[in-house]
Amino acid sequence: MKPAQEPNSSTQALSWAVIGAGATGLSVARRLAEAGRSVTVYEREGFVGGQAGSFEVEPGLYLERFYHHVFHSDHILRGAYHELGLVDDLSWTHPVTATFLDGKMEQLDSPISLLRFRGLPLTTRLRMGATLAALRLIPRGEWLEGRAAAPWLRRWMGRASYDRIWRPLFEGKFGAAAEEVALPWFWARVHDRTSALGYPRGGFRPFYEGLAERVRTSGGSVRLNTVVQSVERTATGYIVHARSAGGDVRASHDAVISTLPPRLTADLAPDLPASWRARYASSPARAAQVLILALDRSLTDTYWLNVNDPDYPFLVVVEHSNMRGPAEYAGRRIVYLGSYRDPADPMLSLSADELVEAFAPHLARINPAFDKTWITDRWTFAVDDAQPIVGKDFKERIPPFETPLPGLYVATIGQVYPHDRGQNYAIGLGERLAAQLLK
Ligand SMILES: Cc1cc2nc3c(=O)[nH]c(=O)nc-3n(C[C@H](O)[C@H](O)[C@H](O)COP(=O)(O)OP(=O)(O)OC[C@H]3O[C@@H](n4cnc5c(N)ncnc54)[C@H](O)[C@@H]3O)c2cc1C
Repeated sequence: MKPAQEPNSSTQALSWAVIGAGATGLSVARRLAEAGRSVTVYEREGFVGGQAGSFEVEPGLYLERFYHHVFHSDHILRGAYHELGLVDDLSWTHPVTATFLDGKMEQLDSPISLLRFRGLPLTTRLRMGATLAALRLIPRGEWLEGRAAAPWLRRWMGRASYDRIWRPLFEGKFGAAAEEVALPWFWARVHDRTSALGYPRGGFRPFYEGLAERVRTSGGSVRLNTVVQSVERTATGYIVHARSAGGDVRASHDAVISTLPPRLTADLAPDLPASWRARYASSPARAAQVLILALDRSLTDTYWLNVNDPDYPFLVVVEHSNMRGPAEYAGRRIVYLGSYRDPADPMLSLSADELVEAFAPHLARINPAFDKTWITDRWTFAVDDAQPIVGKDFKERIPPFETPLPGLYVATIGQVYPHDRGQNYAIGLGERLAAQLLK
């Protein structure tokens, strides 16, 4: 084993451990491996892709555990697709986004649909349109740093716009922290997004399998079903302790990249100093949960439905087959019911059947004809740390790639702030860290 190196010294001969085979981990690992470095990726699950990972609906037919699409502006992701020879798999459409408010569903995804929207008075709609247009014109989110989105939106769009359109979404996503969410994060959502949405034929799985294959064909390895338990610092590098189906793993590496949230990295690396923990490892995040239903007919005629009525137990209805067409799912209609929850919320431990019981009366309010007999299959998935709580001081709590321990790096989704978490930015993070390490 080579001696541990200072962060900026040559990385040529080092053996790298990467924790996590999501978009960030696979992106950094493939670049290091392609540059001839020795890389081992450790992944807890039996599949690659992390939050964008898939499950097998039936032999050969895969679906993401959590609803995913990409934006036309996701240039880093499109570049990565191009490099893997998969870019022609991405198809682009303008599926309908609507809002469910006062028991009614209305399209709300463009300036024209905003003008037609009946849920707000005309002057309020005009103010909201003007504010969103102004945000799009602001080139840099830093200009808005230090401000919270909620009071700013109330001031410029008017209280009714905020209370009826944005507040339910902020509260659904961030819970009690809604009032504190940073304005640059909201700016980025408005600024970065396009109405053209992309989804790859066959889902995102071939892309993540392709990245993992790049790691392997470049001499690296991807160890699935291998849960890293701790990262022990030694005089010359690190020992990664992990648990796998085949038994306990104890592997020496010169350097380690953790793609986990800082709080989990802190748990794994006891040598990280208290000052680093205090600053970076206490940022809260919310969990995400989905119930996926396969139906024998359509629930709605929209792709994305924001649920703005606060007494619903889910925040969004994503009728995936309204973007892709049911033919890709052997005639099934695929509907995701998504929510963000505090990590201790007991709803997170409900089974798919229990969620169906809890959600069905609300689905019947969205489509009065809905009946549970429409459901031919159901699945549920939940993931912790899905949405960092991007409060007003979030920027101060973003760790740099380097930690105080030489050779231990973190590449974690909060570092993409003010951009919202997403595959494009996760890939960018991995690419950026690899470029820095290989310099
Ligand atoms: C509900 C939902 C909807 C989303 N929608 C979209 C969308 O439409 N478009 C979009 O681009 N993005 C979307 N995203 C976000 C996107 O999926 C993530 O930002 C991106 O995948 C994050 O990648 P990552 O590699 O940074 O983290 P992760 O995907 O979280 O990867 C971390 C990996 O580390 C592994 N791991 C954790 N602990 C250990 C351990 N101890 N040992 C070994 N491995 C470990 C995990 O299993 C995981 O595979 C969505 C996310 C959610 C939850």
